[in-house]
Amino acid sequence: MRWENLTVESGGHSRAADTALFGADAVVSRTFDTPEFRGITFHEVRARSIINRVPGASRMPFEWTVNPYRGCSHACVYCFARKTHTYLDLDPGLDFDSQIVVKVNAPELLRRQLGSRRWQGEHIAMGTNVDCYQRAEGRYRLMPGILAALRDHANPFSILTKGTLILRDLDLLVQSAQVTDVGVSVSVGFTDPELWRTVEPGTPAPERRLDVVRTLAEHGIGCGVLMAPVIPFLSDQPAQLRATVQAIAASGATSVTPLVLHLRPGAREWFMAWLGRHHPYLVRRYERLYADGAYAPKWYQRRITRQVHELAQEYGIGPTRAGMPRRILPPEAPEPVVSEPTQLTLI
Ligand code: SF4
Repeated sequence: MRWENLTVESGGHSRAADTALFGADAVVSRTFDTPEFRGITFHEVRARSIINRVPGASRMPFEWTVNPYRGCSHACVYCFARKTHTYLDLDPGLDFDSQIVVKVNAPELLRRQLGSRRWQGEHIAMGTNVDCYQRAEGRYRLMPGILAALRDHANPFSILTKGTLILRDLDLLVQSAQVTDVGVSVSVGFTDPELWRTVEPGTPAPERRLDVVRTLAEHGIGCGVLMAPVIPFLSDQPAQLRATVQAIAASGATSVTPLVLHLRPGAREWFMAWLGRHHPYLVRRYERLYADGAYAPKWYQRRITRQVHELAQEYGIGPTRAGMPRRILPPEAPEPVVSEPTQLTLI
C-alpha cells in the first residue's frame, strides 16, 4: 500500500511517513482486540479538508459531501464504493471491509470550514460514499461533533445509512431539524434474513434498520427508505418485493425508492465471486443480464420500479406523508428510469 513505512501493532499504534495520499498530517494505525473490531485495522489520519465537491455534480441532487471514513465494515458484497479503495493501493475486496481510514479531526475541521467566509451554507450530503454510521463510529464518535457543527451553523444536510447507531445522535438530529433542513434516509433493499446474512454481513438486520425509521418518525424526523439494491433473481420476486414494501410502509417511512443492483468495476468482481460461491447456478444469468456493463437492462429496471411504485401506492407510502427529506441518491446511482412518486433520499 502507499504508506510504505506503516506498521501495525495490536493495541498500539505507529506512524507513517508518506501521507500525501490523504492530504493528511499523519497516519496512525490501530487494531482493537474486541469481537466487534477483530480483523479490522483503523488508519487514523488528520485530513486537511473535509467538505468535498462531488465530481460531476451537475447530475447529482447535491454538490457537497462530508465523508469521515473510507472503507466500510458493513461489508456489503455489492458496495459501489469498493473501487475507491484501490486509490489507496488497497484492494476493493477484503481490504475495503477491514482497512478503514478514519479522519479523526473531521468535526473540528468541519466547524472551521463552515465558519469560513467562503462557505455559502449549501446542502451537505453524508453517507453517499461509505456509511458514516458504520461500526467504527461507535468507537471514534465523529458524527456528534459533525452534527453539532452543522446545527450551530444551521447548515442543511442529509444522511443515508444502514447503521442503527444513528439513533445515538437523535437529540442532535432533532436540534438540527429545528434550525435547518435535515433529511435522513435508511437503506433497506430486502427483508430476507438469509440473503441479508450473506450479502450484507456487517450490517444491522433489515428489521433493526426499519426500527430506526420508526423511531425517527416518532421524533418528528421524516425518513425515506432507499430500497437498494434489489438483487436480480434473489430479492426481486413479487412476494419478496411485496414483503419488503409492506415492512417499509409499516415502519412509517415517508417514501420508498427502488434501485436495482448495479455492478461497477471493483464491486462486480467481488460480487460475482460471492455469487459463484453461494448461488453458482445464477452466474450465467448474471453474465447475460449485465452483459452490457454495470447496469441491468432498462426494461428490467423499469419493471422493478413499476412494481415497487404500485406496491407503495397500495400500502400508502407516497408524497402526501409529512416530513419528507430531500431526495439524495448516492453518487454512483443511475438516473431513475421512471419518475418517482416521492421525494426521497439515499443508501
Ligand atoms: S453500508 Fe453502504 S458504504 Fe457500507 S459497505 Fe454497505 S453499501 Fe457500502
